[in-house]
Amino acid sequence: MKKISPNFHEEEFACKCGCGLSGIDPELLYALECVREKFKAPVTATSARRCEKHNRTVGGAEESFHLTGKAADIVVKGVPAANVADYCESLIRDRGGVGRYPGFTHIDVRGKRARWRG
Ligand SMILES: [Zn+2]
Ligand SMILES: [Zn+2]
Repeated sequence: MKKISPNFHEEEFACKCGCGLSGIDPELLYALECVREKFKAPVTATSARRCEKHNRTVGGAEESFHLTGKAADIVVKGVPAANVADYCESLIRDRGGVGRYPGFTHIDVRGKRARWRG
């Protein structure tokens, strides 16, 4: 396990299909550390980096920021997804996207504002 920040290992953000693709944008990693710090609870990336094939399998958008390591779908242990999304919005502001889903929150660092509900 390769540690890439105080609370995360590289493997946690690797493509879930098992292809071995990994790599996460440093700005996103920093945002996730902020989320960890805010709630003082473990942050799990249910989906982060995706290869093209896996992105299609999970029905991701064609230009998904998961393809470039700029997006993560996260859950925070013991914290409702709505609360996580509220904090992510205040954190990322106009620098990225926040998607509200039942049970998880999508956060990305695309460089411009995006908000939606899944
Ligand atoms: Zn893959
Ligand atoms: Zn996502």
